[in-house]
Amino acid sequence: MSSPHSLDAIFKPSSIAVIGASPRRGTIGHELLDNLIRYGFNGMVFPVNPKHKFIKSIKCHPTVSSIVDPVDLAIIIVPKEHVLGVAEECGERGVKGLVIISAGFREVGGEGVKREKALLALKEKYGFRIVGPNCMGVINAEENVRMNATFAPLEPKSGSMAFMTQSGALGVAILLAVARLDLGLSYFVSVGNKLDIAGNDLLEYWDKDENTKIIALYLESFGEPRRFTQLSKKITKRKPIILVKSGTTAAGARAASSHTGHLAGLEIAVDALLHQCGVIRVSTIQEMMDVVLAFSKNPMPRGGRIGVLTNAGGPAIMATDRLVNEDLALATLSDKTQTKLRSFLPEESSVRNPVDMIASAGADEYGRALDIMLADDAVDAVIAIFVPPIMVEPGEVVKKITEATRKYDKPVFSVVMAEEKFYEEIPRRFKDAPPVYRFPESAVRALAAMDRQRKWVEQPEGQVKTFEPEDPSVRGMVKEAVASGGGYMPPDQVNRILASYGFPVCRLRFLPADGDVLQATADVGYPLVLKVFGRNITHKSDIGGVVTGIKNQDMLARAHTDMQEKLERAGVSREVEGFLVQEMAQEGKEVIFGMTTDPKFGPVLMFGMGGKYVEIIKDIAFRVMPVTDIDAREMVRSIKSYPLLEGVRGDERVDIEFIEESIQRLAQMVSDWPEILELDMNPVMVTPDRSACRVVDARIRISSGEELPGR
Ligand code: ADP
Ligand code: MG
Repeated sequence: MSSPHSLDAIFKPSSIAVIGASPRRGTIGHELLDNLIRYGFNGMVFPVNPKHKFIKSIKCHPTVSSIVDPVDLAIIIVPKEHVLGVAEECGERGVKGLVIISAGFREVGGEGVKREKALLALKEKYGFRIVGPNCMGVINAEENVRMNATFAPLEPKSGSMAFMTQSGALGVAILLAVARLDLGLSYFVSVGNKLDIAGNDLLEYWDKDENTKIIALYLESFGEPRRFTQLSKKITKRKPIILVKSGTTAAGARAASSHTGHLAGLEIAVDALLHQCGVIRVSTIQEMMDVVLAFSKNPMPRGGRIGVLTNAGGPAIMATDRLVNEDLALATLSDKTQTKLRSFLPEESSVRNPVDMIASAGADEYGRALDIMLADDAVDAVIAIFVPPIMVEPGEVVKKITEATRKYDKPVFSVVMAEEKFYEEIPRRFKDAPPVYRFPESAVRALAAMDRQRKWVEQPEGQVKTFEPEDPSVRGMVKEAVASGGGYMPPDQVNRILASYGFPVCRLRFLPADGDVLQATADVGYPLVLKVFGRNITHKSDIGGVVTGIKNQDMLARAHTDMQEKLERAGVSREVEGFLVQEMAQEGKEVIFGMTTDPKFGPVLMFGMGGKYVEIIKDIAFRVMPVTDIDAREMVRSIKSYPLLEGVRGDERVDIEFIEESIQRLAQMVSDWPEILELDMNPVMVTPDRSACRVVDARIRISSGEELPGR
């Protein structure tokens, strides 16, 4: 890093004051100071504590002001009542970074919240940066810094993985797991209450850090999802970001009166966002370890064709099933490869992928077979599974696997089902072995994560298409709707907004409940559709409120009378605000476009198979903003029914480009108008011919102005 960064004061200090250092073993003030010294911090360390003349043979200062040398970083471990005083003194003294371990802030509420606000004011006044409060410290394992300012009982190895955790307790667990796997760290940061420095700052910092090749995050909440999106979209193209997200998004009361609102669960926005940013999401710390192990020990795969090598059938079948589920393919081994394998393997073995060498295979067979498989151009990666028979020592097999792997630049995932003792020995015994997993599913998960990263890096960056609304007068209409308390817009207004953004709406006449429907047919034309309208009527067809295929006046009059009777019987007459006479659309595939607003993530767009059964079939996909052309493309292709749109059983392909464009038009519309809280277009009839596609039913809910999320 060339130009100095404000986080350098935290991560690359020349001198550190440990305020609240203690000679008493087992206290944080002792363990942290001890870690700094034992880890070999490449700079000066000043214990600060008025009660002691020296601690661990080092001169101890009564206050930070009494230190003559400059102090870059202060680690604060004093009781909560003293934190503000100490921070003020640090500010006066020109300290540029604070790591506040002390707890008793926002997390305890009441006084703690006030204390945290006061701390923020001090940060503004003095301009120092803060990690914490309520955290377990920071590590920079880079050889020329070697700062372990945590109280974890560990000596992390220097390496290429940067780790951030929002939970201190899990931080210790993560450090232990990293040590057990003998993985190297570049940075470790426990961010605590994230008063100042949070995930986004660290992402930015680590992006520029040459030592950091992998970024792992344990998050409980998103601070600024928008900035996270911008940053991570770029960073993930260069370095994988692996994230465990626990907890749910702000549990803002979600109105579920629309299809989209109903279908969008709390975690939908998070999932969509991470997917769109190329972030690898895992659900447990164990999974995270499986994945970071793979990225640390393996080269990137160049394709998704996988070879499986085994000495037992069961685990290979498991691995193969998982591979297929993860969108990976079993490699087709060349004839040459198969002949070579056949030349030394027993007759009962299978030389087609998965290559099953049967239980008699020993270490040499593993080495030879793996070598042959990796040499095959049709193989991008190999999963080598070994279930130890009585006579074979798993260590010998790992040795041979390592030798073969080293000759090629391809990832290998070994699965060894052995005794506990064996795994403990791996880091020391097999330094440059490919990653070893206990179960096939862990290996496949890690492989799938690497493959996803490969695809993400290869995929071009998408473009956000812009569309100008055609009819600027709709702006006044939306503003008026907000002014009059928001809620669902009448259908003719919905039509105008949609048409203005280029959606093909149906010709429509809206009549009050006592209006004469027969008078309304002139500008619509036969065949037509008669529908009931009421803001509180969500599913019109459920109560007999939709009649399609009306060909003439007689039919219309009859349909109208019948409908009124049915509505009466259903007991909804009082909800009826009017009737719609609507152009009848050509038959097509019914799809849904929707939008709902997440209190934190903003608009969430939905696309899927539409019609009456959306909630039951749930074949839908979500995206958050911004939505690029690539997102739109992927969104359409990600639903299960996509082949129906491509055309099956003699059906013609519908205009898929129309669908993609509609998603982007919708994105433009909702980003232009934050006043739109929820929207459903269900169904939109899509046909092979774009000019026949129609939005046949749409609802738009406008904000009353109060629930407007800060966009
Ligand atoms: P709701 O969703 O409230 O029950 P819709 O307006 O979506 O009512 O109508 C229900 C179904 O009727 C649609 O899924 C569609 O199959 C059919 N339909 C409605 N309007 C039209 C139209 N204008 N042209 C063709 N089919 C229509
Ligand atoms: Mg509908």
